[in-house]
Amino acid sequence: MARPLLVVDTPSMLFRAFYGLPSSIKGADGRPVNALLGTANLILREVEVHKPRAVVLCFGPDAADYRLELYPPYHADRDPVPDDLSPQFAACPDFFGAFGWTIADSETLEADDLLGSYATRETKAGGRTLVLTGDRDMFQCASKLVSVLYVRTGKQGAEEIGPKGVRERYGIPPALVPDFIALRGDPSDGIPGAKGVGEKTAAELLHKHGSLEGVLNAAFREPRPKLRQALTGSREELLAFKELATLRDEKVRRPRDKRTDHRSAARAARERGMSRLAERLEQAAAG
Ligand code: MN
Ligand code: MN
Repeated sequence: MARPLLVVDTPSMLFRAFYGLPSSIKGADGRPVNALLGTANLILREVEVHKPRAVVLCFGPDAADYRLELYPPYHADRDPVPDDLSPQFAACPDFFGAFGWTIADSETLEADDLLGSYATRETKAGGRTLVLTGDRDMFQCASKLVSVLYVRTGKQGAEEIGPKGVRERYGIPPALVPDFIALRGDPSDGIPGAKGVGEKTAAELLHKHGSLEGVLNAAFREPRPKLRQALTGSREELLAFKELATLRDEKVRRPRDKRTDHRSAARAARERGMSRLAERLEQAAAG
């Protein structure tokens, strides 16, 4: 089978690695490299398992301006990037560039949107895409040709989730994930959802009415008074939540084939004082 494209939610991986590994892991200049090291290890594991035809590292602002305009509390609870982490963000193009991985950044859209855009391009060309992330928003991308490699705290390696996995978790198909998020809410993104509506009710409503719009149009007939009130009373807000959760398309180019360059990556790791990683990469280059 043709090799897949691996696209990486880099901010998600950097934060995960930063909080998962001690900041006593320092580089040649005495500054923490824990996020870079952990991210490299997370990606390399998937590269070994899936042998992608190319790797794209996506970046972008934490909250796109248009999303804040739609709903100011979006991402409002997020802490600023810690002092020990921002230089590691800045080092990414140089460091991961040495791995032969493509860096994709957007000024207006979030990494999420870029991930989805690459997956769309690859799908149009008939190729498979793997989306490495710890963000469940990306479940909306799952399809015959797109899988989410979902990373969770405390788990070794990512779990591959396709349309069936999304249905098993949420009780709805991937296309309805934004509708589902709008109804259920997502505290990590500052989206409250409909009052009193949890996963079960959200799935039940979508199952019955086919979409958030369908749910809202039928809301005045809802027999449960509290639920009826929650749906009819916040129609505009719920529609805005759906838009927040829906990925936007950025005009990206489908990358050409570019394998991981283990030798050059090993040099970059050694320069930054990551000797164990350098050894792992040298072994991979030799093997
Ligand atoms: Mn997201
Ligand atoms: Mn999210």
